Amino acid sequence: MKPLSVEDPEIAAAIHAELERQRNTIILIASENYASRAVMEAQGCVMTNKYAEGYPGKRYYRGTGCVDIAENLARERCKKLFGAEHVNVQPHSGTQANMAAYFAVLKHGDTIMGMNLAHGGHLSHGSPVNFSGRMYKIVPYSVRKDTETLDYSEMADIARKNKPQLIVVGASSYPRTIDFKVVREIADEVGAKVMADIAHIAGLCAVGAHPSPVPYSDIVTTTTHKTLRGPRGALIMCKEELAPAIDRSVFPGTQGGPFMHAIAAKAVAFKEALTPEFKEYQFQVVRNAAALAKRLLENNFDLVSGGTDNHLMMVKMINEGITGKVADETLERAGITLNKNMIPFDPATPFVTSGIRIGTPCVTTRGMKEKQMVEIADMITTVLRDIKNEETVSAVRSQARALCDQFPLYTDLTC
Ligand SMILES: *Cc1c(COP(=O)(O)O)cnc(C)c1O
Repeated sequence: MKPLSVEDPEIAAAIHAELERQRNTIILIASENYASRAVMEAQGCVMTNKYAEGYPGKRYYRGTGCVDIAENLARERCKKLFGAEHVNVQPHSGTQANMAAYFAVLKHGDTIMGMNLAHGGHLSHGSPVNFSGRMYKIVPYSVRKDTETLDYSEMADIARKNKPQLIVVGASSYPRTIDFKVVREIADEVGAKVMADIAHIAGLCAVGAHPSPVPYSDIVTTTTHKTLRGPRGALIMCKEELAPAIDRSVFPGTQGGPFMHAIAAKAVAFKEALTPEFKEYQFQVVRNAAALAKRLLENNFDLVSGGTDNHLMMVKMINEGITGKVADETLERAGITLNKNMIPFDPATPFVTSGIRIGTPCVTTRGMKEKQMVEIADMITTVLRDIKNEETVSAVRSQARALCDQFPLYTDLTC
């Protein structure tokens, strides 16, 4: 039983380099976060060795007493956190959670209404390159061209015309509050079910920093590793009457043995999420996003919808005369990691794009506040407005490093 550094020095070195990267750069990728040491300890534990097909108390394997404790705790804590009637904590990822949810309530060829990918939706909401776009008839809804916010009256018209079986609501790059209650009313009018995918905003919804979809949705799916700050993974919540269908759809429908180490880590994350500190953290994430957006607007950048209500904002590069691709590449060299992203009605391709997406979950976990958001906005501005100047890039890189040093991360970890 040798330590990793002895058993496999190449992988140990890659992990160490990744730790240094996470410590020493400003990460603004809206879908990322830093899980706690306790979450990572649970995720790296001996439960990875255990097969436990089935559910607590009804397993197809022996020796499942200890992992049952973990799964029961994960379920109970998650139900408490979101006020859900039923939860399945086994999905390996957000996309798999969505697949299991669709299989539970739809037949091959049924109609799903989902948000246009280029306007903020997710691949698994009906993209033609994803299973969802291949197995179901997809009718997309969009944001309004003038306000760049969701157009609920257009959504209602599309629903009346197409009579979808399922309306999927939730997004990966939408900076505004989503009105789940209105979506429920639209769905009720046409006899559709509602699935809210809160992968991005789950942490905000858990504490009331964004309205919760739980009371208005038949099914709610989410990842556990974004604002929720848990291990990589996902979960599905639903009303009691859908519980048997959802559970069957996850196992044996779309997955085999659950990742019990990941489920143990989810339980730890839910415990953390039930604390007052977590609630304060989520509200700070939102305040930080507002502060960053305000400064970018003062610096004359164009933001999709003119600002943000949540943890992220979309910055248009069109008037800057640069692409999202050039912006995110150059910023990475300047020690600021974020990603290019399509903006509504984007004339560029998804690989090039005309926007960048900026999120505050990571920097807020490090302890940064509004003052640092202003500094970061100014660093971004300096790089983007002098995009060809490598001296500017390296000056900002030192500035970014110095800011990271003021907010140390994972100080007790070596790997
Ligand atoms: C991130 C995300 C997912 C998918 O999560 P994976 O774990 O990467 O499969 C699903 N839906 C939305 C809205 C997301 O933002």
